[in-house]
Amino acid sequence: MKQKIVIALGGNALGETPSEQRDAVAIAARSIVDLIALGHDVTVVHGNGPQVGMIHLAFDIAAQQTEDIPEMPFAEASAMSQGYIGYHLQNAVGNELRERTIDKSVATVLTQVVVDKQDPAFTTLTKPIGPFYDEVTMLALSEKNGYTYIEDSGRGYRRVVASPMPVTVVERDAIKSLVDAGVLVISNGGGGIPVIEENGKYVGVDAVIDKDNAASKVADEIDADILVILTGVDKVAIHYGKFNQEWLTTLTIPMANQYINEGHFAPGSMLPKVEASVRFVEGRQNRKAIITSLENAHLAISEGNGTTIQS
Ligand code: ADP
Ligand code: MG
Repeated sequence: MKQKIVIALGGNALGETPSEQRDAVAIAARSIVDLIALGHDVTVVHGNGPQVGMIHLAFDIAAQQTEDIPEMPFAEASAMSQGYIGYHLQNAVGNELRERTIDKSVATVLTQVVVDKQDPAFTTLTKPIGPFYDEVTMLALSEKNGYTYIEDSGRGYRRVVASPMPVTVVERDAIKSLVDAGVLVISNGGGGIPVIEENGKYVGVDAVIDKDNAASKVADEIDADILVILTGVDKVAIHYGKFNQEWLTTLTIPMANQYINEGHFAPGSMLPKVEASVRFVEGRQNRKAIITSLENAHLAISEGNGTTIQS
């Protein structure tokens, strides 16, 4: 049966440099097109941590050296990363489709995501971005640009920005129309460009939306059947990395909530994936979420491999 699927691609599907990324997306493209070959409609959401960090750093260094290069706001750097990664994905998926003689269009939608300016994430900044600085450099920078920096696990100081929850996807109707017309859509790159509403207008802000939360939100808004979160592991585990580690094939919402409370899922890595999955399926019997690896994607859909989260 044809299903509407939203895929969230993890960092390992992209690599860090342009050439690494070209090679990595060629592999990701195979997994994506495997799902197309099974007859499903697919929307791809991806992360952008290393890419937006690189773009931001390049502008930072250049702006310190010459007045010809302006300060680049974070939302603009995020938009650039959507174009850069969207290009590679569009190119690789297009090539893979042609190789398999599947006639399908691929389109990247530059995506803005509304966040709430009252979100507590704006008062407690948590998301470290960009390079590490020593204390002297950090103090000089913060004096100059007013940014907030924190000490990051003994490795030096990094800029931190807010990581608010997505409220709604501005381009949701465009994404839905394209998907319903049979186009393979790449949307919400890096979680989406965060915007707040001010006097009836959307304005970009310095923040990062978690891509798993963003994928869950867009999946909900286009009323997808399945949210597939592709990451570095085949399944979710409890007692992860310990002697009594146990891989999970299915996860109900009460079980997921219990394991979340017991601290089985690492914040910033597996926790947002499980939470995003729960939010997508909660109260919706016809929906499911799957967390698995890139290599396992089509088996997860056709054979139930991976960890399935259902109401
Ligand atoms: P992505 O780039 O795909 O978002 P992350 O590194 O943020 O990937 O999160 C996925 C990683 O979370 C896994 O590769 C694994 O190392 C780690 N992880 C933490 N807790 C668990 C758990 N309970 N079960 C499985 N993996 C876990
Ligand atoms: Mg992650």
